[in-house]
Amino acid sequence: MIKPRAAAPPSTDSHLEPLDHEDVIVRRGRRSGLYTFVAVHSTLRGPSLGGCRIWGYLDSHEALRDVLRLARAMTYKAAVADLPLGGGKGVVMTAPGASLTSERRTAALLDFGDAVESLGGRYITAEDVGTSSRDMRVIAERTRHVAGLPRRLGGSGDPSPFTALGVESAIRACCERVFGSGSLRGRIVAVVGLGHVGSKVAKRCARAGATLVLSDIDPRKRRLTEELSAGWAPPERALEVEVDVLAPCALGGVLDHATVPRLRCRIVAGAANNQLADTSVAALLAERQILWAPDFVANAGGIINIAEEQHGYDAASASRRVRRIGDIVLDIFDRADAAGTTPLMAAMELARQRLAT
Ligand code: NAD
Repeated sequence: MIKPRAAAPPSTDSHLEPLDHEDVIVRRGRRSGLYTFVAVHSTLRGPSLGGCRIWGYLDSHEALRDVLRLARAMTYKAAVADLPLGGGKGVVMTAPGASLTSERRTAALLDFGDAVESLGGRYITAEDVGTSSRDMRVIAERTRHVAGLPRRLGGSGDPSPFTALGVESAIRACCERVFGSGSLRGRIVAVVGLGHVGSKVAKRCARAGATLVLSDIDPRKRRLTEELSAGWAPPERALEVEVDVLAPCALGGVLDHATVPRLRCRIVAGAANNQLADTSVAALLAERQILWAPDFVANAGGIINIAEEQHGYDAASASRRVRRIGDIVLDIFDRADAAGTTPLMAAMELARQRLAT
């Protein structure tokens, strides 16, 4: 779980977020005193689903911008994965660098549960940065519109193994497109961010025969290099190492007009949400002939797994569906080539078409 840090906003986009959402609620929790934001972007294809993020924001504008932007991204993610779900998101705003006592954290989760309940099922919550499947149990004391409960309680549990499986599938699809083979044997892969998802992406790639370069701002994560016989790059240099594949698995906004010219990779495919600081970065990547798997396609494994809860959870069936992410990525590359556009634009167009029907 990422600890809130001072001056480390999850979004680097300084523009105001356009408002095209169905519902936005802002509430001050009566138990915790903390502000909760919930945005329902779209319920056109089904109830909106998206995680609950507990994070230290500099101010309410930043928290609101984050929840609006993340909710919209969930609509696109569910539509491209062809799930009967819409997009939503929840945020509990803490102060940068603040850590909550366990009592206040529980209070905040119960308050958040009340906010979810007030939407009457139009929004289903799940875990996200700063929350875990254990936290979902606390939220479930106040609302039944919770996904990702522990497996023994009938939920789909921790989504990160499925997100990692989907990211591997996306990486293989990119390798097929760039190198003519989806095999990872002998490929060099940099994984930046070794949390729930990144550590599992690294292990999967190592098992598939890739050579790894790992990086994290938390020096304790360096232990993984021994287990996987991997190299290590300090986080400030991690984007510049010469590799076949760069897998961003930390926070968003890492690819911008300053970092993209310094990349030395052929492929970018990872788990982090909102990897591009803004949409113009997709064209910059294409100009540099770096193939980018749109993040909301590559990292959809978690939501595909959660969607399985809608008709009785079955892990094997979830895995089969998640493995199809590679095919979706290849389809998007085909669409982008045919339309002479970027994978980002092709994926967004596919989502718009699905929403229109
Ligand atoms: P996590 O909190 O478990 O791990 C994030 C890791 O990134 C931590 O180890 C942290 O120390 C590291 N980190 C933070 N800033 C960094 C930096 N600048 N350089 C290098 N390392 C840095 O989070 P997670 O659940 O693994 O999720 C990772 C990303 O994937 C997030 O953007 C999340 O929104 C996205 N995502 C996660 C899931 C899921 O199933 N957990 C699903 C879809 C998308």
